[in-house]
Amino acid sequence: MDKNSSPRIYGVLGYPVKHSLSPSMHNAAFEALKINAEYRSFQVKPQDLENFLNSLAKKNIYGLNVTIPYKEKVVPFLQNLSPEADLIGAVNTIKVFPDKLEGFNTDGEGFLQHLRQDLKFDPQDKTIAILGAGGAARAISVYLSKNKPRLIAIYDIDKTKSEMLVKHLKENFKNVELKLANSIAQLNIGDCHLLINATPVGMKDSVPCIVDKKLLHKNLLVYDLIYNPPQTKLLALAKKVGAKVSNGLGMLLYQGMLSFKIWIGQDAPLKIMRQALEKGLEKCTQ
Ligand code: NAP
Repeated sequence: MDKNSSPRIYGVLGYPVKHSLSPSMHNAAFEALKINAEYRSFQVKPQDLENFLNSLAKKNIYGLNVTIPYKEKVVPFLQNLSPEADLIGAVNTIKVFPDKLEGFNTDGEGFLQHLRQDLKFDPQDKTIAILGAGGAARAISVYLSKNKPRLIAIYDIDKTKSEMLVKHLKENFKNVELKLANSIAQLNIGDCHLLINATPVGMKDSVPCIVDKKLLHKNLLVYDLIYNPPQTKLLALAKKVGAKVSNGLGMLLYQGMLSFKIWIGQDAPLKIMRQALEKGLEKCTQ
């Protein structure tokens, strides 16, 4: 590591950016690989977003993760989008070049890598139900659709959003059966292999479980994108009926590793980043 030059800056952009685990994960990786870089949190007000994005190179910022509420809002300020970010319509990773900003989306691929590598779940020919049709559901459903599932059913409390997502997927993936569900019952969870919660329901303990226990069964993999709390009511109920379960920490890990590769150009250290995330989460939940 060259200690004489100032570190390259990376970070997460959001508003607010409370208790993000990304700084722990990326700083642990930089340290382990002796990369002279630092990962920070950038809490930027909406009215300051454009100025902030236009001054990245000047501020020695080489790359960003983007979180709520800016994943879609940053798109007009970027000069290039990867084909995946373009298809998803949202960006969670920005790479800064001297003369341009390039946008990527690693959420969907991060989810899929976790699903395949750690959970040993292959989406091909599977029946899948997704709760929610927001940014995360869009990223995930695009990547699942690329992997030839038999059927994807989508439900969102806001019907316009689920209608738009189903329409978008139908236009881009002609060989996948896509179903717009008007209720959770219409997701037909009983026939599903994979149930994904891509809504924020479960983050607060005071809110009841999003799915009735009677709909869950032991042949399901229940994947809740939420990682804090590590075990939502949905995951606890799914476990009780003998289903396989996962929270969203693995997705966070793999999307972070993919962002790291985009910025740094070398493979991210999986074990180090996983440990840093687990330690960070333990601190948050104490
Ligand atoms: P988002 O864009 O706000 O989408 C969430 C969607 O769920 C919205 O359309 C929302 O509708 C809908 N919804 C809320 N309550 C519902 C209910 N009871 N039934 C059905 N739909 C409901 O949020 P997001 O960015 O996609 O994030 C979703 C979740 O994934 C969050 O918990 C987030 O923390 C998590 N996440 C995890 C990772 C990871 O790496 N693990 C990455 C990204 C996101 P309204 O807008 O009408 O409320």
